Amino acid sequence: MKQTLYDKIWNDHCILDNDDHSSLIYIDRHLIHEVTSPQAFDGLDIKKRDIWNKKSIMATTDHNVPTINRDQGITDPVSKIQIEALRENCKKHNIELYDLDNLKQGIVHVIGPELGMTQPGMTIVCGDSHTSTHGALASLSFGIGTSDVEHVLATQCLNLTKEKNFNIEVNGVLHPYITSKDLILYIIGSIGTSGGTGYTIEYTGETISDLSIESRMTICNMTIEAGAKSGLMAFDEKTHDYLKDREFLPSSKHYDDALKYWETLISDSGVTFDRKEKFNASDIQPQVTWGTSPEMVTSVDECIPSSDSIDNEEEYLDTLAYMGLEPKTEIKSIDLDKIFIGSCTNSRIEDLRQAAEVVEGEKVSSKIKQAIIVPGSGLVKAQAEREGLDKIFMKAGFEWRDPGCSMCLGMNDDFLQPYERCVSTSNRNFQGRQGDKGRTHLVSPGMAAVAAIKGHFYNVKDFMNEK
Ligand code: SF4
Repeated sequence: MKQTLYDKIWNDHCILDNDDHSSLIYIDRHLIHEVTSPQAFDGLDIKKRDIWNKKSIMATTDHNVPTINRDQGITDPVSKIQIEALRENCKKHNIELYDLDNLKQGIVHVIGPELGMTQPGMTIVCGDSHTSTHGALASLSFGIGTSDVEHVLATQCLNLTKEKNFNIEVNGVLHPYITSKDLILYIIGSIGTSGGTGYTIEYTGETISDLSIESRMTICNMTIEAGAKSGLMAFDEKTHDYLKDREFLPSSKHYDDALKYWETLISDSGVTFDRKEKFNASDIQPQVTWGTSPEMVTSVDECIPSSDSIDNEEEYLDTLAYMGLEPKTEIKSIDLDKIFIGSCTNSRIEDLRQAAEVVEGEKVSSKIKQAIIVPGSGLVKAQAEREGLDKIFMKAGFEWRDPGCSMCLGMNDDFLQPYERCVSTSNRNFQGRQGDKGRTHLVSPGMAAVAAIKGHFYNVKDFMNEK
């Protein structure tokens, strides 16, 4: 019987089908960080259970870490407690932790692929919903809750119900300076934030094949914002090239066998999906969210939609009141306070290169209170510094930070003051996500860089043509 990529990975990890339509699934890789692991470790202690497979675990500090003045220690009391708990738990259970003093420390979804901990065909879990990121490397990856973190630590398994198969096919060529961030925002704007609920989404088509692995990760990262727990992309030559020489790949003794398996990680030709949608990449212009959900998105050259085109008027008016915006406002006329380039969506070297290309020789507008660049990992930061990107950013007036989740969420020292308006390359624009009453607009790294220079939104394609 023909199988999708999702079917193949699922079947390869299914230990047992239960009577209630759930299945017991083996988990290959468990990524942990300071926010969702302390209670799980406490649970193990209370039940006097040990960890089933320590080698499957990768631990890092990311959500709560300071991205500046690290030599002064962690000042926020809650962050300090969380991080110290992770340190103690890793020490006690002999788990290697990528902590603040380690060059390889960074956002869990950046360092997993970077170190080769993320491998095709694996089942990968983490107590963080953006675990979907790792699907770009043909792995079945999804976020889990704290009780499941404990369960995986103890048993290396989870009872799961299989999702349906959804294929999103994208063909055509993206315009210059239009990125995979614009593509996924456009898709979410089209299918909605519940469009993928109950499905695992596999992205196919020539546009996806043409994307780099880093760009593919941005799409899988935001698949959760389309309602699906996992996004997947087939293994191909680019996946193989990306993986080559990564630290935690199978040893040379096992590599050929692994590669043979990875090459099977593609949906069978002619397989039937439960749902299919097609998109044309050349339709897409730079995207900007105007509301408090990633589906509230439009092109930078457009206006905020009027209530006539919205189903739920009450929600629409609440959203605009929260965002401090009026119907039909031109996106390019919106003034901005802060710029954040970072997060597991857009903090890889390719993202920083895109932003640097825009910023080079320019200055951050005097209207902008703060513009920060937060690399996704110590390795990304070091690479950027080797390429001189840090100097380009700092010369323009950006702050160059240490790696972490930073202003993606108000859980560390980097957050918005009430009513501040931020252009962010992260993945969520929910109310209060970046700080109480903070206002978030999601964009690509290039669009964030242009916004920093102009002090308002501007089409990156036009900016680069005029430059
Ligand atoms: S960068 Fe944001 S979305 Fe990504 S892991 Fe950190 S908090 Fe979660």
